[in-house]
Amino acid sequence: MRIAAAIGAVILLVGLGLAVRYFATDDGTSMDLTKIPEPVQSEPAPPPLPPLPSNTQEQPPLPAQDSMAAQQPPQGTGESGTMMSEEEGPLRFSMPLDCPDYGEDCYILNFVNAGLETDPRDYSCGSLTYAEHRGTDFRLLSLQEMEAGVSVLAAAPGEVVQVHDGMPDANYRLFGRDAIADRGLGNRVVIDHGDGIRSTYGHMRRGSVAVSVGDTVARGQMIGLVGMSGLTDFPHVHFEVSDQGSFVDPFTGALRHEGCGLIGESLWQQETLAKLPYLRTVVIRSGFADETLNRAAVEYGLFNEGPIAATSTALVMHVYVAGIQEGDAFVAEITDPTGARFVKSGSEFDRYRQSRLLAIGKQDLLEPLIPGIYSGEFRYYRRDASGEKVEIFAINESVEVR
Ligand SMILES: [Zn+2]
Repeated sequence: MRIAAAIGAVILLVGLGLAVRYFATDDGTSMDLTKIPEPVQSEPAPPPLPPLPSNTQEQPPLPAQDSMAAQQPPQGTGESGTMMSEEEGPLRFSMPLDCPDYGEDCYILNFVNAGLETDPRDYSCGSLTYAEHRGTDFRLLSLQEMEAGVSVLAAAPGEVVQVHDGMPDANYRLFGRDAIADRGLGNRVVIDHGDGIRSTYGHMRRGSVAVSVGDTVARGQMIGLVGMSGLTDFPHVHFEVSDQGSFVDPFTGALRHEGCGLIGESLWQQETLAKLPYLRTVVIRSGFADETLNRAAVEYGLFNEGPIAATSTALVMHVYVAGIQEGDAFVAEITDPTGARFVKSGSEFDRYRQSRLLAIGKQDLLEPLIPGIYSGEFRYYRRDASGEKVEIFAINESVEVR
């Protein structure tokens, strides 16, 4: 009975779509967070990876990257420490959404493209950006959180100069990029902070915009809710800063395309910057299904909720990874209920990629699956300074076949 209960617990976790989330930071630590998984981002479909050994499929990925570079996180500066009003001195931004615990409540999936259009890089020379990106995307962990309601906050005081509302919160892939036209940021608010500096909050939830043009807003004031409107397929707020019309990366103060690895002066308040560790690699979601899922399905969490039928013709573990560096590699293995290998595969990434949806398993099965628990293990590796492959995180998933 205890075994049955344990199995039941495993199944329950899988059924709820719960998975341990992993964030690889630059100091060698990894944060593992047990959280409801979520969705990811969209963009032009990137080129395919080198084919894996048998039985591995891949999904259309995101933007692509190339080459390598130094990895120097920028330095924060702090204007704080004085007894003056926080609104004195140079303009500094605070969190643009209600995210008390970064990594648990939200995390950044895309930064400003500090690199070239042809070689997108985030400020730390990682791959968490894409060609045309000019803001910082703070994403929620799941659509469920978006539905529960997470506030978008004015990141500094100012005057509202533009608002737009009324666009639906939906994966744009459902109706196509053309339907969005020039309203890519969806429902949005633009705040003028004076001296030519503006901040924009995009993809807000339909009907949530809580301010009007001409309103004066205070730092931290709720201006709406995080949504999924406009050109996106995951719930997030796109926070964009411009200075005299030019896009600026709040992590470095550098202009878009100015280059990565720059030691700049952050535009975040010191205490805000301290809460935003650079997460170079993120597992957005993982789980089993009885078919190979696409990105939208994974974003909506359409993993198998209950046991997979033994008569299914496919058994596939999905791992959605963002922040892939050149030379990164993974090895995945699924074991059947007898402990025998069901499938094993792996691959090395030959270049930077914003994200990849990896699918490991078998399809077009002719024989029924063996009833019991199938276990998947996914190990992710990165080369250290000496070129050695070092495991930076691992994920385990399991599913019952009945
Ligand atoms: Zn964005």
